[in-house]
Amino acid sequence: MPSPGLRTAKRPRKKKDGDECVLLIEADADVAAEIFAALNSATEEQFHVEWVTELSSGIERLRKGGVGAVVLDLTLPDSHGVESFDKLFQASARVPILVLSEADAEEMARQAAHRGAHDYLAKNQSVGYRLRGVVRTMIERRTAEAAVKALVLQNEVAKLTLDAIEEAVLRTDINGDITYLNRMAERLTGWCRREALGRPIANVLRITKGDSTSTNGEALDILISEDGTAMPAANCTTCVLVGRDGVELGIEKTVTPIRDQDGVLTGSVVAFHDVSAARAQSLEMSRLAQHDSLTGLPNRVLFNDRLKQAISLAMRQDKQLAVMFVDLDQFKKINDSLGHAVGDKLLQSVAGRLVDCVRRTDTVSRLGGDEFVVLLSQVEHEEDVAVSARKILRTLAAPHPVDNKNLDISVSIGVSTYPSDGPDAENLMDKADTAMYEAKKQGRNNYQFFRRDMQVRLLDRQSLEADLRYALGRNEFLLHYQPKFNLQTGQITGVEALVRWVHPRRGLVAPAQFIPIAEECGLILPIGRWVLLEACRQVRAWSDSGLGIVPVAVNVSAAEFGDKDFVSGVRAVLIATGVEPRNLELELTESVLMQDAESTVRTLGALKAMGVTLAIDDFGTGYSSFTYLRRFPVDALKLDQSFVQEITEDPGDATIVSAMINIGMSLNQRVIAEGVETSAQLKFLQSHGCAEGQGHYLSHPVAAEQAAKLLEAGIQEGMVQ
Ligand code: C2E
Ligand code: MG
Ligand code: MG
Repeated sequence: MPSPGLRTAKRPRKKKDGDECVLLIEADADVAAEIFAALNSATEEQFHVEWVTELSSGIERLRKGGVGAVVLDLTLPDSHGVESFDKLFQASARVPILVLSEADAEEMARQAAHRGAHDYLAKNQSVGYRLRGVVRTMIERRTAEAAVKALVLQNEVAKLTLDAIEEAVLRTDINGDITYLNRMAERLTGWCRREALGRPIANVLRITKGDSTSTNGEALDILISEDGTAMPAANCTTCVLVGRDGVELGIEKTVTPIRDQDGVLTGSVVAFHDVSAARAQSLEMSRLAQHDSLTGLPNRVLFNDRLKQAISLAMRQDKQLAVMFVDLDQFKKINDSLGHAVGDKLLQSVAGRLVDCVRRTDTVSRLGGDEFVVLLSQVEHEEDVAVSARKILRTLAAPHPVDNKNLDISVSIGVSTYPSDGPDAENLMDKADTAMYEAKKQGRNNYQFFRRDMQVRLLDRQSLEADLRYALGRNEFLLHYQPKFNLQTGQITGVEALVRWVHPRRGLVAPAQFIPIAEECGLILPIGRWVLLEACRQVRAWSDSGLGIVPVAVNVSAAEFGDKDFVSGVRAVLIATGVEPRNLELELTESVLMQDAESTVRTLGALKAMGVTLAIDDFGTGYSSFTYLRRFPVDALKLDQSFVQEITEDPGDATIVSAMINIGMSLNQRVIAEGVETSAQLKFLQSHGCAEGQGHYLSHPVAAEQAAKLLEAGIQEGMVQ
């Protein structure tokens, strides 16, 4: 005999998670026992029964959940009749209720069934398999309902999720007809769900490939291969979607087949998203990566690409092409004196004109700095290239208006041609570069075609440059000194320090051979510092050995002069060696003064204030202008040897020299004649009142020990008339 609350059957069936019990609400213990027995008589199917005797405890139990079916006797101590059912039904309409009725109260039970009970049984029927069958049905139905509900919920959540994401998703059936599309898919295609459903996917997801505007459903290669087997698991492609309004949009789409449990294809899911912004960004990125930001011209990377393409085309068509290196002459000077902003604008102006000079099929590129390169892709004859080169020289020579200034520039052009100068891009670039160097050497403002001998010279230069890097460290420099004489008294007025490089293999290398290289690769700064220190140290040593004070002249390159630490470097050397500033003369070429920058004036002022004297070297070879002779605090003019050497040959030069001597005298500047080689020249200079002279006739540049001997003598006998 069971007792209320009993949960076991005769052979308790293990309760699994999620298993629900059968709640028996029955006041009569005998009936309850019978029902227990009925529900557990079959060993293969035993129900977990919980028994209560009152409606109130039944309702309470029901509310706790976990009840899969209720067996309710309508006659209970605290409730009676169909009312009992109503109350219980109210507590949870979702749990199926089987009503038990007395045999004579079937009408009541029928009413209950009418109001929602699952079924009813007369108590005397409630034994055996009948009851078990009904309870089983109740529980099974409830389980099925729960599963359906869960599925509906899951579906709903999936739809909400799909509508909430940024990815557009649509689904098709086996025929490729749309069965679903989410909100983003509606937005990107322009089709609303209602209209899209059932349509072929190619109508809704109209794709074009690349630049072609034809719509093709085939782009959706989609979905179903003929036999439904060969579809890839998923494929991702970038393409262009034509929206319902005709607007095109870059998308990236992934097509994934849907298969049923047996692996049979039933449709597909197409997911896609807008990549137009990302595409625009990546196009911009690749444009930036391939173009020079200052001029907008193709950069080296893109140029190389185009050159390679042009070479393969020329090879196939048996044609020629040309590469031209175009390098601005003296661009650094403009940049240094007028500032980078002006330099940049000048480069832009040059870029524009270069583009105008060539055909649309040609490529103009900026490799960096003031280096441009032009690819002429259609060349019939070498002369075509020469014509283009001359056109470029002419076009770029016209003044460039920049910031209210008209800038005059020239360029040096080096040309190489395919196939004669090389089979590939690298070769052609190298050779055009070599030819460009040659153009520079030929005095700039010209073009040169590559020749084999240029390369030899370039290689030589390159090896010299490589050796130069080690020369200071290996102590390979030394100074020679060339005295300057008072042309009236024959006395030595000072010496000029001239650097020499004792190359381990080449022997003595003249400054003309390595100073320009040192200037180009920046080595001039340490070399110049060494020369200054060594010259001052030598002068100090002579003075210490009782030779008296010897003023020393040191040559300064534009690059050194423009260095921000130049003035402080000079000061440091003077302090370190104890040489008086007035005994140091710095020789500057006119090109230094031509820079005409404020910094030049400032540096000259600072040197002057320090007490150092300043001379213009090679006077007369640059654009000597009276303006800067007056403007700059210069102490001496060194007349270039080219004039001096002609004075006795060319009456014109004689006039110029005598005029220059007079200018110097009237500006209160010492005039020193360079390159005096003959007594006739000396006599001319003396008779025209030139104060000082220097040259082989008077003394060659000599090593320090020999110079000491000359200084000891102090005077050049026979010089004075
Ligand atoms: P510069 O300053 O005009 O020096 C005079 C050059 O003329 C020297 O050549 C000298 O040897 C040479 N010379 C002297 N007398 C005569 C003559 O009667 N006839 C001829 N034909 N030549 C004569 P060098 O030593 O080869 O120097 C050449 C140039 O190299 C110098 O011209 C100067 O501009 C530069 N240089 C030399 N040493 C230095 C240096 O330490 N630093 C810098 N920045 N430049 C230097
Ligand atoms: Mg000099
Ligand atoms: Mg000179």
